[in-house]
Amino acid sequence: MSDAYCIQINETGGPEVLTRVSMEPRRPGPGEALVRQSAVGLNFIDTYHRSGLYPVKMPFTLGSEGAGTVESVGDGVENIKPGDRVAYLGAGAYATHFTGPASRMLKLPEGVSEEEGAATLLKGLTAWMLLFEVYRPEPGETALVWAPVGGVGSLLVPWATSLGVRVLAVTSSEAKAEMARKAGASDVIFSHEDVASRAKALTGGKGVDVSYDSVGKSSAMASLDSLKPRGWFVSFGNASGAVDPIAPVELSKRGSLVMTRPGLFHFINTEEGLHKGASALFGALRAGTFKAHVGQTFDLADAAEAHRAIESGKTTGATLLKP
Ligand code: NDP
Repeated sequence: MSDAYCIQINETGGPEVLTRVSMEPRRPGPGEALVRQSAVGLNFIDTYHRSGLYPVKMPFTLGSEGAGTVESVGDGVENIKPGDRVAYLGAGAYATHFTGPASRMLKLPEGVSEEEGAATLLKGLTAWMLLFEVYRPEPGETALVWAPVGGVGSLLVPWATSLGVRVLAVTSSEAKAEMARKAGASDVIFSHEDVASRAKALTGGKGVDVSYDSVGKSSAMASLDSLKPRGWFVSFGNASGAVDPIAPVELSKRGSLVMTRPGLFHFINTEEGLHKGASALFGALRAGTFKAHVGQTFDLADAAEAHRAIESGKTTGATLLKP
């Protein structure tokens, strides 16, 4: 009898639908590896799977990323071996053990811990996607960054700043504002203010070059109104709910704006894309461009409590679950 377990849902709903289920770790098939996990990264998408915003097939084991030590590998696996420390993106990470495609697992470089791997892989690749693959701001340009000290934001702000970009951070409290300033934001706008007027005022009336917006429903129009003509509205999240439909004319009347809704998967679904992003991310971590920021840690068995925390909007940095 194994003490291995995972956290599953059988129906959509609030955090109370998360259920601990005993399991036997699955032996890796060809091309797969079995990882004993030491840290699981919590992501907002996990709450969307739970709530039904993003439909999944039941029963469903939650979780999108984790890190740990390889226990065994299946036939044909060459990129990793037992004993290697790895981080990966894959469905079903809320578990003591994870079996999945070895080609999606990345060896953690010396100096990057498993906790750091689980805290930064998905969120850091997202920051890489936004800054290098979606809209690459030039030094001297201005970016509006929403939720600047959250999971993605705590990596995005220092990374953007390191590129010479001026960051205007939009957040909800003085404590978070102070953290955003420390991370490199030149100015802070509170989300209860008239964000667009403040963004315009802070850019001499011109508007920002790009808005990286993870908040969604409650922020989308303020993002559009903050942009300069031909600016980019990069809507990448729904922390406050899914964005309402926006008619193309809204982009044209504000000055031929560009709007995009990127999803990380489309940038890392090839091995080439995954390795390109990971090498930028691990390179930046090792260079000290930013540090993993683990704001809170929960036992894996307390995943429901962790969901309540992230949905409350009060967390900072990454949230980890420890098996
Ligand atoms: P965060 O740690 O940023 O948490 C969400 C933050 O959003 C809160 O801390 C809060 O920050 C802000 N917020 C504003 N309004 C609300 C609200 N009504 N409820 C809750 N939070 C609110 O989360 P992540 O960094 O993990 O993810 C942010 C978003 O990015 C999510 O929607 C996620 O799905 C998305 N994402 C998208 C990816 C993609 O590929 N497109 C990949 C990764 C993440 P503050 O107090 O500063 O306002």
